[in-house]
Amino acid sequence: MTFPRFATIAEMRSALASKTISAVELAREHLDRIAASDLNSFVTVCEDDAVATAREADGHIGRHGQSGLVGVPVAHKDVFCTAGVRTTCASRMLAGFVPPYDATVVARFRDSGAIMLGKTNMDEFAMGSSNENSHFGSVSNPWDVTRVPGGSSGGSAAAVAAGLVPAATATDTGGSIRQPAAFCGISGLKPTYGRVSRYGMVAFASSLDQGGPMARSAEDLRLLLQHMEGHDPLDSTSADIGPTPREADRVGLRIGVVREYGRDLDARLAATVDEAAAVFERLGHERVEISLPHTTYATAAYYVVASAEASTNLSRYDGVRYGHRAESPNDLDDLYARSRSEGFGAEVKRRILTGTYALSIGYYDAYYRKAQRLRRLIRQDFLDAFRSVEAILAPATPSTAFEKGALLAPDETKDPTVMYEQDVYTVPASLAGLPALSIPCGIIDGLPVGMQLIGPHFGEDRLLALAESFQQETDWHQRTPPR
Ligand code: GLN
Repeated sequence: MTFPRFATIAEMRSALASKTISAVELAREHLDRIAASDLNSFVTVCEDDAVATAREADGHIGRHGQSGLVGVPVAHKDVFCTAGVRTTCASRMLAGFVPPYDATVVARFRDSGAIMLGKTNMDEFAMGSSNENSHFGSVSNPWDVTRVPGGSSGGSAAAVAAGLVPAATATDTGGSIRQPAAFCGISGLKPTYGRVSRYGMVAFASSLDQGGPMARSAEDLRLLLQHMEGHDPLDSTSADIGPTPREADRVGLRIGVVREYGRDLDARLAATVDEAAAVFERLGHERVEISLPHTTYATAAYYVVASAEASTNLSRYDGVRYGHRAESPNDLDDLYARSRSEGFGAEVKRRILTGTYALSIGYYDAYYRKAQRLRRLIRQDFLDAFRSVEAILAPATPSTAFEKGALLAPDETKDPTVMYEQDVYTVPASLAGLPALSIPCGIIDGLPVGMQLIGPHFGEDRLLALAESFQQETDWHQRTPPR
């Protein structure tokens, strides 16, 4: 049988429970779609393993019925370590790396019966906003293949949007779940920093990195979060706070719209987000204007902090312990220098250089310490705002998906900060460690628009409840790409 291409996880679970389809059939059908796709959204496909685990899932469903994610196909961003399955971070540096262990998120999905179909393409080491910084080539946006899917989780977003998989994991350091979700017309949640274990997630900027789900509805995000979240003794920054409850009020909330965000936003995008605010008013919520006075410094502060942390995190790739190693080095320095020069792509090198500069004696106070102070002020802006509103509604991106090549800065003749400015609406919540999600709220010239909901720390329940009620009222999340 052929199963509806854009079914939600909820629909797949009931089809599996009623045995309308088997887990093996479901896995095969999705594997066929992946094989037929030319989006380049996967780096590795695990066909044999997937069919074997799906067979076990069918046995389980036969004996105990469907529960959790049993039999549900998923894909993992190639930043999550998978035991016995190559984990590249889309870098030449890790192109041959096969981890001996699973990331906690991967292990939790496996334990809940999900079927891993493969690993998705991304920007190298999760650095980028277009998925063009991948050693394995760029990913196409299924709504228009001449355009980018966003980044860094572009493979996960494009795969979910194109119906290759109903759900995928992703990570968000400064927007990498929300921006590609917006560009591809799907739903994506960046949880509160600490909600989801970072164990086994290849590190980019450890004070910001957070794993989260991508799917076709907020209801599915909630289910996926249940299978990702929770305290993990293997990650000392994971919060011991218990599971996300399901009790948030669905009416009478005050939703903040940010005064500063109106200024430079494209008029049609602004109108779309404004219409989303009107939907929330119809649903019984109140629109309240708020101010985030330091938000204009967020991108600058983020790129200093994230690059500084990246420069230290990536110092482990030295050609000695694991990762790419240069051929016939002359001496140890030559081994380090050539392994790193050959293994890293241009954007990763740029981040290492700027991060090392920002941390060096003489510049530390001028850049790193100043960025940390700004981070504190940006966080305080949000804490102040959440005294008068329960959630914040904001654009997810300053534009819809842009053309491939348009913002790339492969060398010093182009300005890399033009791409960095794509993250202007997503990095503030990252710097503050807040949960934020992006859901579809419109279409402009055939391309999806995403809106962002930002909540107080550990306020995922409320964000998801707002998103669920929005998706009951509208059908933007059910729109699918033309091909
Ligand atoms: N685009 C941002 C960057 O390049 C965010 C990436 C991310 O969230 N991983 O750093």
